[in-house]
Amino acid sequence: MNIIDLDKQYIAGTYARFPLQLTEGKGSLVKDADGKEYIDLGTGIAVNGFGVGDEEWKQAVIAQLDKIQHTSNLYYSEPCALLAQMLCQRTGLKKVFFSNSGAEANECAIKAARHYGQTKKGKDYYTIITLKNSFHGRTITTLSATGQDVFHEYFTPMTEGFVYAEPNDINSVKALVQSYKCCAVMIELVQGEGGVTALEQDFVSALAQLVKDEDMLLVVDEVQTGNGRTGSLYAYMDYGITPDVVTTAKGLGGGLPIGATMLGERADLFTAGMNGSTFGGNPVACAGALNLLQRTDEALLAQVREKSAYIFNTLQNAKGVKSVTGKGLMIGVECEKDANEVVTACRERGVLVIKAKHKVRLLPALNIPMEQLEKAINTLKEVIEQ
Ligand SMILES: *Cc1c(COP(=O)(O)O)cnc(C)c1O
Repeated sequence: MNIIDLDKQYIAGTYARFPLQLTEGKGSLVKDADGKEYIDLGTGIAVNGFGVGDEEWKQAVIAQLDKIQHTSNLYYSEPCALLAQMLCQRTGLKKVFFSNSGAEANECAIKAARHYGQTKKGKDYYTIITLKNSFHGRTITTLSATGQDVFHEYFTPMTEGFVYAEPNDINSVKALVQSYKCCAVMIELVQGEGGVTALEQDFVSALAQLVKDEDMLLVVDEVQTGNGRTGSLYAYMDYGITPDVVTTAKGLGGGLPIGATMLGERADLFTAGMNGSTFGGNPVACAGALNLLQRTDEALLAQVREKSAYIFNTLQNAKGVKSVTGKGLMIGVECEKDANEVVTACRERGVLVIKAKHKVRLLPALNIPMEQLEKAINTLKEVIEQ
């Protein structure tokens, strides 16, 4: 049986996969099972931020594998401590809890927010405001945090304690703060799965002020936007705000599973036994992440912004393009053509792009060589124009 049939027979039907099996690659070039090569603008959904098989990352991972692959959180571990130190030094946040995915990182943030509400305001201050069209994960609680009804269908009852405000409408947030006993607001600064749209600066500034005035926590979900993706190390840095909690995952591990919940001074309330994760802070994942984070420096971020400007400039006024949204190398292209058609035509021409809602989504590697990016964007442009 071929792999596609085998998968269809034995893998739970939760994924609508493209008819393509990726087997190997180098940098931003990946190959399928037939040996056909593609320029990858999807990076495993913003995970392979340094592309496939990055040499330095691989060496860091292998060096750690040669020492010890896992120790449990009953013991101290160097890669985990060093990564936490670097995350705190580069963000100004104070403590880190490590897990294995974005959903888990957000679960921890939700626990931190509820803990803060209970401790500082009273037991019934547990409601968290999130935004409509958001995406925060697939566990029952992070689904509940996700402000899209379509994800809730079939799985009710959802975890209680989440209410949804309109993005870019501060009055809608204020109304919820008046009606519910709230402990936090949780947002994505660029809504990824919701269609790659960045929140407006004025809204975010007003929100940060409101959260402060009302003694709530500001939780920023940087699972997708983080680790250089938007052209700054974390997207919040561009908005001039100081979140109390920042979560990240996807690009942090460069392909190995890791989640991180960074806690600021006010949110740092956890004591022993309040959270845990068997695999959280895995030394191999942390050693790789440490290497990538060190290399996500100002020079690389400047390149991300340059490549971003190139993509915006090339596509914004192109024929067949309705809009280009997003930030850095997290871009949504709304086309006159159906997005599925564009994805398929690009694939046939050797370029991998993905979708977000009705848009074509681009998440190239942060270090994609300019010639490969140009080639891929020209192909995309031709496909959209036709
Ligand atoms: C992908 C994503 C998640 C979920 O991450 P998983 O690793 O799939 O659990 C949460 N929030 C945002 C913003 C995401 O993009």
